[in-house]
Amino acid sequence: MADAPVIVVGAGAAGLATALHLAPLPVTVLTPASLGREAATGWAQGGLAAAVGPDDTPARHAADTEAVGGGLVDPAVARAVADAAPERIAWLDRLGTVFDRDDGGALALGLEAGHSRRRIVRAAGDGSGKAVLDALIAAVRAEPAITVREGAWAVRVLTGEAGVQGVALADGTVLPARAAVLACGGVGGLFAGTTTPLGACGQGLAMAARAGAGIRNAEFVQFHPTAMDLDADPLPLATEALRGEGVPLVDATGARVMARHPAGELAPRDAVARTVHECRAVGHAVYLDTPTQLGGDMPARFPRVTAACRAAGLDPVTRAIPVRPAAHFHIGGVAADLHGRTGVDGLYACGEAACTGLHGANRLASNGVIEGLATAPWVAEAIAASPPADARAPRAQVQPQAAADRAPLALRRLMERNCGPVRDGAGLAAAVDWLADRADRDDTALAALVIAEAARRRPETRGAHARRDAPDAEAIAGDSQLTLADVVPRSVGLEGCAA
Ligand SMILES: Cc1cc2nc3c(=O)[nH]c(=O)nc-3n(C[C@H](O)[C@H](O)[C@H](O)COP(=O)(O)OP(=O)(O)OC[C@H]3O[C@@H](n4cnc5c(N)ncnc54)[C@H](O)[C@@H]3O)c2cc1C
Repeated sequence: MADAPVIVVGAGAAGLATALHLAPLPVTVLTPASLGREAATGWAQGGLAAAVGPDDTPARHAADTEAVGGGLVDPAVARAVADAAPERIAWLDRLGTVFDRDDGGALALGLEAGHSRRRIVRAAGDGSGKAVLDALIAAVRAEPAITVREGAWAVRVLTGEAGVQGVALADGTVLPARAAVLACGGVGGLFAGTTTPLGACGQGLAMAARAGAGIRNAEFVQFHPTAMDLDADPLPLATEALRGEGVPLVDATGARVMARHPAGELAPRDAVARTVHECRAVGHAVYLDTPTQLGGDMPARFPRVTAACRAAGLDPVTRAIPVRPAAHFHIGGVAADLHGRTGVDGLYACGEAACTGLHGANRLASNGVIEGLATAPWVAEAIAASPPADARAPRAQVQPQAAADRAPLALRRLMERNCGPVRDGAGLAAAVDWLADRADRDDTALAALVIAEAARRRPETRGAHARRDAPDAEAIAGDSQLTLADVVPRSVGLEGCAA
Protein backbone atom coordinates (compact mmCIF):
# COMPACT_ATOMS: atom_id res chain seq x y z
CA MET A 1 0.00 0.00 0.00
CA ALA A 2 1.38 3.38 -1.03
CA ASP A 3 1.06 5.17 2.32
CA ALA A 4 1.61 2.10 4.51
CA PRO A 5 4.85 1.67 6.47
CA VAL A 6 7.58 -0.80 5.70
CA ILE A 7 7.13 -3.69 8.12
CA VAL A 8 10.36 -5.08 9.54
CA VAL A 9 9.85 -8.46 11.19
CA GLY A 10 12.44 -8.79 13.94
CA ALA A 11 14.39 -6.51 16.25
CA GLY A 12 17.93 -7.85 16.20
CA ALA A 13 20.88 -6.09 14.57
CA ALA A 14 19.54 -6.74 11.06
CA GLY A 15 16.02 -5.49 11.70
CA LEU A 16 16.95 -2.44 13.75
CA ALA A 17 19.74 -1.38 11.38
CA THR A 18 17.40 -1.76 8.40
CA ALA A 19 14.77 0.36 10.17
CA LEU A 20 17.34 3.07 10.98
CA HIS A 21 18.52 3.20 7.38
CA LEU A 22 14.93 3.28 6.09
CA ALA A 23 14.02 6.35 8.16
CA PRO A 24 12.61 8.90 7.37
CA LEU A 25 10.36 6.43 5.49
CA PRO A 26 7.75 5.25 7.99
CA VAL A 27 8.73 1.87 9.44
CA THR A 28 7.08 -0.51 11.89
CA VAL A 29 9.36 -2.99 13.65
CA LEU A 30 7.70 -6.13 15.00
CA THR A 31 9.13 -7.98 17.97
CA PRO A 32 7.44 -10.66 20.06
CA ALA A 33 9.25 -9.57 23.21
CA SER A 34 10.26 -6.17 24.52
CA LEU A 35 13.12 -4.54 22.61
CA GLY A 36 16.44 -6.14 23.46
CA ARG A 37 15.01 -9.51 24.44
CA GLU A 38 14.82 -12.74 22.39
CA ALA A 39 17.27 -11.50 19.75
CA ALA A 40 20.41 -13.58 19.19
CA THR A 41 22.26 -10.33 18.53
CA GLY A 42 22.16 -9.50 22.22
CA TRP A 43 23.80 -12.85 22.99
CA ALA A 44 26.78 -12.49 20.66
CA GLN A 45 29.95 -12.88 22.68
CA GLY A 46 32.89 -13.06 20.30
CA GLY A 47 32.34 -9.84 18.41
CA LEU A 48 32.17 -8.48 14.88
CA ALA A 49 34.67 -9.33 12.15
CA ALA A 50 36.07 -6.30 10.33
CA ALA A 51 39.44 -5.68 8.69
CA VAL A 52 40.46 -2.68 10.77
CA GLY A 53 43.91 -3.78 11.99
CA PRO A 54 47.08 -2.32 10.45
CA ASP A 55 48.11 -5.74 9.08
CA ASP A 56 44.70 -6.52 7.58
CA THR A 57 42.65 -5.76 4.47
CA PRO A 58 39.05 -6.43 3.38
CA ALA A 59 40.47 -8.64 0.62
CA ARG A 60 42.10 -10.84 3.28
CA HIS A 61 38.85 -10.94 5.31
CA ALA A 62 36.95 -11.97 2.18
CA ALA A 63 39.58 -14.62 1.37
CA ASP A 64 39.30 -16.12 4.89
CA THR A 65 35.50 -16.13 4.55
CA GLU A 66 35.83 -18.04 1.27
CA ALA A 67 38.44 -20.43 2.63
CA VAL A 68 36.13 -21.87 5.30
CA GLY A 69 32.98 -21.76 3.14
CA GLY A 70 33.24 -25.23 1.58
CA GLY A 71 33.27 -23.95 -2.00
CA LEU A 72 29.89 -22.24 -1.83
CA VAL A 73 30.78 -18.67 -0.80
CA ASP A 74 29.86 -16.08 -3.43
CA PRO A 75 33.18 -14.18 -3.77
CA ALA A 76 31.48 -10.91 -4.78
CA VAL A 77 29.23 -11.05 -1.71
CA ALA A 78 32.15 -11.85 0.61
CA ARG A 79 34.13 -8.94 -0.80
CA ALA A 80 31.21 -6.50 -0.59
CA VAL A 81 30.51 -7.38 3.07
CA ALA A 82 34.22 -7.30 4.01
CA ASP A 83 34.61 -3.93 2.26
CA ALA A 84 31.60 -2.52 4.15
CA ALA A 85 32.49 -3.94 7.59
CA PRO A 86 34.99 -1.25 8.76
CA GLU A 87 32.54 1.54 7.92
CA ARG A 88 29.73 -0.27 9.78
CA ILE A 89 31.95 -0.46 12.87
CA ALA A 90 32.51 3.29 12.55
CA TRP A 91 28.72 3.77 12.23
CA LEU A 92 28.13 1.78 15.43
CA ASP A 93 30.83 3.84 17.12
CA ARG A 94 29.01 7.03 16.08
CA LEU A 95 25.76 5.56 17.46
CA GLY A 96 27.48 5.19 20.81
CA THR A 97 28.73 1.59 20.98
CA VAL A 98 31.70 1.58 23.32
CA PHE A 99 34.17 -0.82 21.73
CA ASP A 100 37.11 -2.27 23.63
CA ARG A 101 40.34 -0.40 22.88
CA ASP A 102 44.01 -0.89 23.67
CA ASP A 103 46.10 1.53 25.72
CA GLY A 104 46.80 3.61 22.60
CA GLY A 105 43.08 3.99 21.84
CA ALA A 106 43.03 1.60 18.86
CA LEU A 107 40.29 -1.03 18.66
CA ALA A 108 41.37 -4.13 20.62
CA LEU A 109 41.13 -7.00 18.15
CA GLY A 110 40.48 -10.64 19.01
CA LEU A 111 41.38 -13.77 17.05
CA GLU A 112 38.97 -16.57 16.20
CA ALA A 113 39.12 -19.80 14.21
CA GLY A 114 39.59 -19.40 10.46
CA HIS A 115 40.78 -15.77 10.67
CA SER A 116 44.33 -15.19 9.47
CA ARG A 117 44.52 -11.89 11.34
CA ARG A 118 43.27 -10.44 14.61
CA ARG A 119 40.06 -8.77 13.38
CA ILE A 120 37.31 -9.44 15.93
CA VAL A 121 36.04 -6.10 17.19
CA ARG A 122 34.62 -6.43 20.69
CA ALA A 123 32.75 -4.48 23.30
CA ALA A 124 32.56 -5.16 27.04
CA GLY A 125 34.76 -8.26 26.72
CA ASP A 126 32.35 -11.03 25.83
CA GLY A 127 29.32 -8.70 25.87
CA SER A 128 29.73 -7.41 22.29
CA GLY A 129 26.25 -8.26 21.06
CA LYS A 130 24.48 -6.57 23.95
CA ALA A 131 26.57 -3.43 23.56
CA VAL A 132 25.74 -3.24 19.85
CA LEU A 133 22.06 -3.97 20.42
CA ASP A 134 21.78 -1.36 23.19
CA ALA A 135 23.21 1.32 20.87
CA LEU A 136 20.81 0.34 18.06
CA ILE A 137 17.84 0.36 20.43
CA ALA A 138 18.71 3.83 21.71
CA ALA A 139 18.93 5.12 18.13
CA VAL A 140 15.63 3.47 17.18
CA ARG A 141 13.85 4.94 20.19
CA ALA A 142 15.11 8.40 19.19
CA GLU A 143 13.89 8.07 15.57
CA PRO A 144 10.33 9.38 15.13
CA ALA A 145 9.81 7.57 11.79
CA ILE A 146 10.14 4.17 13.52
CA THR A 147 7.27 2.58 15.43
CA VAL A 148 8.11 -0.47 17.51
CA ARG A 149 5.30 -2.95 18.04
CA GLU A 150 6.19 -5.21 20.98
CA GLY A 151 4.27 -8.43 21.63
CA ALA A 152 3.78 -8.93 17.87
CA TRP A 153 4.45 -12.38 16.38
CA ALA A 154 4.22 -12.31 12.58
CA VAL A 155 2.73 -15.41 10.95
CA ARG A 156 2.13 -14.59 7.29
CA VAL A 157 3.29 -12.23 4.58
CA LEU A 158 0.17 -11.30 2.62
CA THR A 159 0.62 -10.97 -1.11
CA GLY A 160 -1.55 -9.86 -3.99
CA GLU A 161 -0.93 -10.28 -7.70
CA ALA A 162 1.76 -7.58 -7.68
CA GLY A 163 3.56 -8.62 -4.50
CA VAL A 164 3.50 -7.84 -0.79
CA GLN A 165 0.41 -6.12 0.63
CA GLY A 166 0.84 -6.67 4.34
CA VAL A 167 1.85 -8.84 7.27
CA ALA A 168 -0.50 -10.85 9.49
CA LEU A 169 0.10 -11.34 13.21
CA ALA A 170 -0.77 -14.38 15.28
CA ASP A 171 -3.59 -12.47 17.01
CA GLY A 172 -5.31 -12.02 13.64
CA THR A 173 -4.27 -8.37 13.11
CA VAL A 174 -3.51 -7.53 9.50
CA LEU A 175 -0.93 -4.76 9.01
CA PRO A 176 -0.83 -3.16 5.55
CA ALA A 177 2.74 -2.80 4.30
CA ARG A 178 4.52 -0.99 1.51
CA ALA A 179 7.15 -3.75 1.76
CA ALA A 180 8.12 -6.41 4.30
CA VAL A 181 11.59 -7.26 5.57
CA LEU A 182 12.16 -10.66 7.17
CA ALA A 183 14.85 -10.08 9.79
CA CYS A 184 13.64 -12.77 12.16
CA GLY A 185 16.89 -14.58 12.83
CA GLY A 186 17.74 -18.27 12.80
CA VAL A 187 16.53 -21.77 13.51
CA GLY A 188 18.31 -23.00 16.66
CA GLY A 189 14.99 -23.41 18.47
CA LEU A 190 14.17 -26.29 16.11
CA PHE A 191 16.88 -28.40 17.79
CA ALA A 192 16.88 -29.89 21.28
CA GLY A 193 20.36 -28.55 21.98
CA THR A 194 20.80 -24.92 20.96
CA THR A 195 22.61 -21.78 21.97
CA THR A 196 20.01 -19.46 20.42
CA PRO A 197 16.82 -17.95 21.79
CA LEU A 198 14.09 -20.61 21.64
CA GLY A 199 11.93 -18.26 19.55
CA ALA A 200 14.48 -18.60 16.73
CA CYS A 201 12.46 -21.41 15.24
CA GLY A 202 12.41 -20.64 11.55
CA GLN A 203 9.26 -18.54 11.23
CA GLY A 204 11.06 -16.50 8.55
CA LEU A 205 11.61 -19.62 6.45
CA ALA A 206 7.95 -20.61 6.80
CA MET A 207 6.62 -17.13 5.97
CA ALA A 208 8.93 -16.74 2.98
CA ALA A 209 8.10 -20.18 1.61
CA ARG A 210 4.36 -19.66 2.01
CA ALA A 211 4.69 -16.29 0.23
CA GLY A 212 6.42 -17.97 -2.72
CA ALA A 213 10.08 -17.15 -2.03
CA GLY A 214 12.90 -19.67 -2.38
CA ILE A 215 14.95 -21.08 0.50
CA ARG A 216 18.65 -21.50 -0.24
CA ASN A 217 21.14 -23.91 1.37
CA ALA A 218 18.80 -24.70 4.26
CA GLU A 219 20.76 -27.88 5.05
CA PHE A 220 23.70 -25.86 6.36
CA VAL A 221 23.17 -25.36 10.08
CA GLN A 222 26.21 -24.40 12.08
CA PHE A 223 26.65 -26.38 15.28
CA HIS A 224 28.80 -24.54 17.78
CA PRO A 225 31.34 -26.97 19.25
CA THR A 226 31.40 -25.48 22.73
CA ALA A 227 27.93 -24.98 24.12
CA MET A 228 28.19 -25.58 27.85
CA ASP A 229 26.85 -29.03 28.69
CA LEU A 230 24.75 -27.84 31.60
CA ASP A 231 21.14 -28.41 32.64
CA ALA A 232 19.76 -25.40 30.75
CA ASP A 233 17.61 -24.68 27.70
CA PRO A 234 18.93 -22.96 25.66
CA LEU A 235 22.50 -23.93 26.46
CA PRO A 236 24.87 -21.11 27.42
CA LEU A 237 27.75 -20.60 25.03
CA ALA A 238 31.43 -20.79 25.83
CA THR A 239 32.68 -18.35 23.20
CA GLU A 240 35.21 -19.39 20.59
CA ALA A 241 37.35 -16.50 21.81
CA LEU A 242 38.33 -18.79 24.70
CA ARG A 243 40.05 -21.09 22.22
CA GLY A 244 41.49 -17.99 20.53
CA GLU A 245 43.10 -17.19 23.87
CA GLY A 246 44.65 -20.66 23.99
CA VAL A 247 42.16 -22.59 26.15
CA PRO A 248 42.52 -26.25 25.07
CA LEU A 249 39.73 -28.77 24.52
CA VAL A 250 40.48 -31.84 26.61
CA ASP A 251 38.92 -35.15 27.58
CA ALA A 252 38.50 -36.37 31.16
CA THR A 253 42.15 -37.44 31.27
CA GLY A 254 43.35 -33.97 30.25
CA ALA A 255 44.42 -35.13 26.74
CA ARG A 256 43.83 -32.57 23.97
CA VAL A 257 41.06 -33.78 21.67
CA MET A 258 42.09 -31.52 18.75
CA ALA A 259 45.76 -32.55 18.91
CA ARG A 260 45.57 -34.35 15.58
CA HIS A 261 44.16 -31.42 13.60
CA PRO A 262 46.88 -29.15 12.12
CA ALA A 263 45.06 -26.03 13.35
CA GLY A 264 44.30 -27.59 16.76
CA GLU A 265 41.59 -25.75 18.68
CA LEU A 266 41.48 -23.07 15.97
CA ALA A 267 40.36 -25.53 13.29
CA PRO A 268 37.16 -24.45 11.51
CA ARG A 269 34.03 -24.72 13.63
CA ASP A 270 32.59 -27.68 11.70
CA ALA A 271 35.75 -29.73 12.23
CA VAL A 272 35.82 -28.98 15.96
CA ALA A 273 32.08 -29.64 16.32
CA ARG A 274 32.42 -33.02 14.60
CA THR A 275 35.37 -34.03 16.76
CA VAL A 276 33.52 -33.09 19.95
CA HIS A 277 30.40 -34.91 18.65
CA GLU A 278 32.42 -38.04 17.87
CA CYS A 279 34.18 -38.05 21.25
CA ARG A 280 30.84 -37.80 23.02
CA ALA A 281 29.27 -40.44 20.77
CA VAL A 282 31.81 -42.96 22.09
CA GLY A 283 31.24 -41.89 25.67
CA HIS A 284 34.04 -39.37 26.27
CA ALA A 285 33.01 -36.05 27.78
CA VAL A 286 34.87 -33.00 26.45
CA TYR A 287 35.91 -29.92 28.43
CA LEU A 288 37.36 -26.46 27.92
CA ASP A 289 40.34 -26.40 30.24
CA THR A 290 39.93 -22.86 31.57
CA PRO A 291 41.78 -23.41 34.91
CA THR A 292 45.03 -24.33 33.17
CA GLN A 293 45.07 -21.51 30.63
CA LEU A 294 43.23 -18.61 32.27
CA GLY A 295 42.58 -19.48 35.91
CA GLY A 296 41.96 -16.33 37.95
CA ASP A 297 41.83 -14.14 34.80
CA MET A 298 38.54 -15.78 33.75
CA PRO A 299 36.09 -13.42 35.50
CA ALA A 300 37.67 -10.26 34.10
CA ARG A 301 38.36 -11.60 30.61
CA PHE A 302 35.13 -13.57 30.11
CA PRO A 303 32.54 -12.21 32.52
CA ARG A 304 29.47 -13.67 30.76
CA VAL A 305 30.92 -17.17 30.48
CA THR A 306 32.01 -17.01 34.10
CA ALA A 307 28.58 -15.85 35.23
CA ALA A 308 26.78 -18.58 33.25
CA CYS A 309 29.05 -21.26 34.74
CA ARG A 310 28.67 -19.94 38.27
CA ALA A 311 24.88 -19.78 37.88
CA ALA A 312 25.06 -23.53 37.20
CA GLY A 313 27.29 -24.12 40.22
CA LEU A 314 30.57 -24.50 38.32
CA ASP A 315 33.52 -22.16 38.83
CA PRO A 316 35.57 -21.99 35.60
CA VAL A 317 38.52 -20.53 37.53
CA THR A 318 39.07 -23.91 39.17
CA ARG A 319 37.04 -26.40 37.08
CA ALA A 320 37.05 -27.17 33.36
CA ILE A 321 33.80 -26.42 31.50
CA PRO A 322 31.96 -29.46 30.02
CA VAL A 323 30.98 -28.73 26.41
CA ARG A 324 28.90 -30.22 23.57
CA PRO A 325 27.92 -29.14 20.03
CA ALA A 326 24.62 -27.27 19.72
CA ALA A 327 22.66 -25.63 16.89
CA HIS A 328 23.93 -22.08 16.72
CA PHE A 329 23.53 -20.33 13.38
CA HIS A 330 21.55 -20.88 10.19
CA ILE A 331 23.94 -20.55 7.30
CA GLY A 332 21.13 -21.08 4.79
CA GLY A 333 17.96 -19.06 4.75
CA VAL A 334 15.59 -17.08 2.58
CA ALA A 335 17.30 -16.74 -0.81
CA ALA A 336 18.19 -13.06 -1.16
CA ASP A 337 20.67 -10.86 -2.95
CA LEU A 338 22.81 -8.23 -1.24
CA HIS A 339 19.84 -5.84 -1.35
CA GLY A 340 17.68 -8.41 0.41
CA ARG A 341 15.51 -8.99 -2.67
CA THR A 342 13.84 -12.39 -2.54
CA GLY A 343 12.15 -12.71 -5.90
CA VAL A 344 8.72 -11.89 -4.43
CA ASP A 345 8.06 -8.21 -5.11
CA GLY A 346 8.13 -6.20 -1.92
CA LEU A 347 9.55 -9.07 0.19
CA TYR A 348 13.10 -8.64 1.50
CA ALA A 349 15.27 -10.65 3.88
CA CYS A 350 18.19 -9.47 5.99
CA GLY A 351 20.59 -10.88 8.57
CA GLU A 352 20.56 -14.50 9.68
CA ALA A 353 17.11 -15.08 8.15
CA ALA A 354 18.60 -14.43 4.71
CA CYS A 355 21.00 -16.51 2.65
CA THR A 356 23.02 -14.07 0.55
CA GLY A 357 25.90 -16.40 -0.30
CA LEU A 358 28.28 -14.85 2.27
CA HIS A 359 28.76 -17.98 4.36
CA GLY A 360 28.65 -20.68 1.68
CA ALA A 361 28.55 -24.04 3.44
CA ASN A 362 30.21 -22.89 6.64
CA ARG A 363 30.20 -19.56 8.45
CA LEU A 364 33.44 -17.91 9.48
CA ALA A 365 33.25 -16.95 13.16
CA SER A 366 31.96 -13.42 13.89
CA ASN A 367 30.68 -12.92 10.35
CA GLY A 368 27.08 -13.15 11.63
CA VAL A 369 26.18 -9.81 13.21
CA ILE A 370 28.29 -7.92 10.68
CA GLU A 371 26.39 -9.46 7.75
CA GLY A 372 23.09 -7.91 8.83
CA LEU A 373 24.76 -4.58 9.59
CA ALA A 374 26.55 -4.57 6.24
CA THR A 375 23.51 -5.37 4.13
CA ALA A 376 20.90 -3.31 6.05
CA PRO A 377 21.64 -0.02 4.22
CA TRP A 378 21.51 -1.81 0.87
CA VAL A 379 18.13 -3.36 1.76
CA ALA A 380 16.84 0.07 2.80
CA GLU A 381 18.17 1.60 -0.42
CA ALA A 382 16.38 -1.00 -2.56
CA ILE A 383 13.08 -0.48 -0.73
CA ALA A 384 13.31 3.31 -0.93
CA ALA A 385 13.98 3.08 -4.66
CA SER A 386 11.01 0.79 -5.35
CA PRO A 387 7.36 1.78 -5.56
CA PRO A 388 5.03 -0.16 -3.23
CA ALA A 389 4.74 -3.69 -4.60
CA ASP A 390 0.95 -3.78 -4.54
CA ALA A 391 -0.89 -0.52 -3.89
CA ARG A 392 -4.08 -2.27 -2.69
CA ALA A 393 -4.87 -2.93 0.95
CA PRO A 394 -4.68 -6.59 1.97
CA ARG A 395 -8.11 -8.23 1.85
CA ALA A 396 -7.22 -11.44 3.64
CA GLN A 397 -8.81 -12.07 7.00
CA VAL A 398 -6.57 -14.05 9.25
CA GLN A 399 -7.89 -16.31 11.96
CA PRO A 400 -6.09 -15.79 15.27
CA GLN A 401 -3.74 -18.71 15.86
CA ALA A 402 -1.21 -19.79 18.40
CA ALA A 403 2.14 -18.12 17.75
CA ALA A 404 4.59 -20.81 16.59
CA ASP A 405 7.20 -19.18 18.80
CA ARG A 406 8.40 -22.44 20.35
CA ALA A 407 8.92 -25.72 18.53
CA PRO A 408 7.41 -28.87 20.11
CA LEU A 409 9.93 -30.93 22.09
CA ALA A 410 9.30 -34.01 19.92
CA LEU A 411 10.27 -32.02 16.84
CA ARG A 412 13.37 -30.60 18.52
CA ARG A 413 14.51 -34.07 19.60
CA LEU A 414 13.93 -35.45 16.12
CA MET A 415 15.97 -32.65 14.51
CA GLU A 416 18.76 -33.12 17.03
CA ARG A 417 18.90 -36.88 16.42
CA ASN A 418 18.33 -37.05 12.66
CA CYS A 419 19.55 -33.68 11.42
CA GLY A 420 22.35 -32.90 13.89
CA PRO A 421 26.10 -32.42 13.34
CA VAL A 422 26.39 -35.84 11.62
CA ARG A 423 23.51 -37.11 9.46
CA ASP A 424 22.60 -40.02 7.20
CA GLY A 425 20.09 -40.66 4.44
CA ALA A 426 17.87 -43.02 6.43
CA GLY A 427 17.56 -40.66 9.39
CA LEU A 428 16.85 -37.69 7.15
CA ALA A 429 14.19 -39.60 5.20
CA ALA A 430 12.50 -40.56 8.46
CA ALA A 431 12.58 -36.94 9.63
CA VAL A 432 11.14 -35.74 6.33
CA ASP A 433 8.25 -38.23 6.59
CA TRP A 434 7.41 -37.18 10.15
CA LEU A 435 7.64 -33.46 9.40
CA ALA A 436 5.75 -33.62 6.09
CA ASP A 437 2.69 -34.92 7.94
CA ARG A 438 2.67 -31.77 10.08
CA ALA A 439 4.07 -29.00 7.86
CA ASP A 440 0.75 -27.86 6.43
CA ARG A 441 -0.55 -26.77 9.82
CA ASP A 442 2.60 -26.13 11.85
CA ASP A 443 5.17 -23.52 10.77
CA THR A 444 7.94 -24.98 12.94
CA ALA A 445 7.41 -28.31 11.16
CA LEU A 446 7.55 -26.55 7.78
CA ALA A 447 10.81 -24.80 8.67
CA ALA A 448 12.32 -28.05 9.97
CA LEU A 449 11.09 -29.90 6.89
CA VAL A 450 12.84 -27.49 4.55
CA ILE A 451 16.11 -28.10 6.44
CA ALA A 452 15.73 -31.89 6.57
CA GLU A 453 14.68 -32.17 2.92
CA ALA A 454 17.59 -30.01 1.74
CA ALA A 455 19.93 -32.19 3.84
CA ARG A 456 18.37 -35.36 2.41
CA ARG A 457 18.98 -34.07 -1.11
CA ARG A 458 22.69 -33.45 -0.48
CA PRO A 459 24.40 -36.87 -0.23
CA GLU A 460 27.87 -35.47 0.37
CA THR A 461 29.83 -33.93 3.21
CA ARG A 462 30.44 -30.23 2.74
CA GLY A 463 31.08 -27.50 5.27
CA ALA A 464 28.65 -27.74 8.18
CA HIS A 465 26.69 -30.56 6.49
CA ALA A 466 28.25 -33.92 7.39
CA ARG A 467 26.81 -37.21 6.07
CA ARG A 468 28.18 -40.37 7.66
CA ASP A 469 26.83 -42.29 4.63
CA ALA A 470 28.63 -39.90 2.22
CA PRO A 471 31.79 -38.73 3.98
CA ASP A 472 33.48 -37.23 0.91
CA ALA A 473 32.67 -34.03 -0.93
CA GLU A 474 31.20 -35.16 -4.23
CA ALA A 475 29.98 -33.25 -7.24
CA ILE A 476 27.10 -31.36 -5.67
CA ALA A 477 29.10 -28.17 -5.57
CA GLY A 478 26.17 -25.82 -6.12
CA ASP A 479 23.69 -24.12 -3.84
CA SER A 480 20.44 -25.89 -2.99
CA GLN A 481 17.12 -24.17 -3.52
CA LEU A 482 13.69 -25.30 -2.30
CA THR A 483 10.24 -23.79 -2.58
CA LEU A 484 7.04 -24.65 -0.75
CA ALA A 485 5.95 -26.84 -3.65
CA ASP A 486 9.08 -29.00 -3.25
CA VAL A 487 8.25 -29.92 0.34
CA VAL A 488 4.47 -29.57 0.73
CA PRO A 489 3.09 -30.02 -2.78
CA ARG A 490 -0.53 -29.60 -1.79
CA SER A 491 -0.14 -26.60 0.55
CA VAL A 492 -2.28 -23.58 -0.16
CA GLY A 493 0.23 -21.31 1.62
CA LEU A 494 -2.37 -19.20 3.40
CA GLU A 495 -4.40 -21.70 5.37
CA GLY A 496 -6.06 -19.91 8.25
CA CYS A 497 -6.69 -16.87 6.06
CA ALA A 498 -9.96 -16.23 4.29
CA ALA A 499 -9.98 -13.73 1.46
C1 LIG B 1 25.01 -17.33 21.95
C2 LIG B 1 25.33 -16.74 20.61
C3 LIG B 1 26.56 -16.11 20.40
C4 LIG B 1 26.84 -15.55 19.16
N1 LIG B 1 28.04 -14.91 19.00
C5 LIG B 1 28.27 -14.26 17.83
C6 LIG B 1 29.42 -13.45 17.68
O1 LIG B 1 30.23 -13.32 18.58
N2 LIG B 1 29.60 -12.82 16.49
C7 LIG B 1 28.71 -12.93 15.46
O2 LIG B 1 28.91 -12.33 14.41
N3 LIG B 1 27.62 -13.70 15.59
C8 LIG B 1 27.36 -14.34 16.75
N4 LIG B 1 26.23 -15.08 16.88
C9 LIG B 1 25.27 -15.10 15.79
C10 LIG B 1 24.58 -13.75 15.75
O3 LIG B 1 24.23 -13.36 17.06
C11 LIG B 1 23.32 -13.77 14.90
O4 LIG B 1 23.57 -14.42 13.69
C12 LIG B 1 22.88 -12.37 14.58
O5 LIG B 1 22.79 -11.61 15.76
C13 LIG B 1 21.56 -12.40 13.88
O6 LIG B 1 21.01 -11.11 13.86
P1 LIG B 1 19.57 -10.94 13.29
O7 LIG B 1 19.19 -9.52 13.50
O8 LIG B 1 19.52 -11.49 11.92
O9 LIG B 1 18.65 -11.90 14.20
P2 LIG B 1 18.33 -11.82 15.76
O10 LIG B 1 19.28 -10.96 16.48
O11 LIG B 1 18.16 -13.22 16.24
O12 LIG B 1 16.92 -11.10 15.79
C14 LIG B 1 15.78 -11.76 15.29
C15 LIG B 1 14.58 -11.02 15.76
O13 LIG B 1 13.41 -11.51 15.10
C16 LIG B 1 12.39 -11.71 16.07
N5 LIG B 1 11.42 -12.66 15.51
C17 LIG B 1 11.60 -13.96 15.18
N6 LIG B 1 10.46 -14.46 14.67
C18 LIG B 1 9.55 -13.47 14.67
C19 LIG B 1 8.19 -13.36 14.26
N7 LIG B 1 7.54 -14.41 13.72
N8 LIG B 1 7.55 -12.18 14.41
C20 LIG B 1 8.18 -11.09 14.95
N9 LIG B 1 9.50 -11.13 15.34
C21 LIG B 1 10.15 -12.31 15.20
C22 LIG B 1 13.16 -12.15 17.29
O14 LIG B 1 12.38 -12.06 18.47
C23 LIG B 1 14.30 -11.14 17.23
O15 LIG B 1 13.88 -9.89 17.72
C24 LIG B 1 25.91 -15.66 18.11
C25 LIG B 1 24.71 -16.30 18.31
C26 LIG B 1 24.40 -16.84 19.55
C27 LIG B 1 23.09 -17.52 19.75
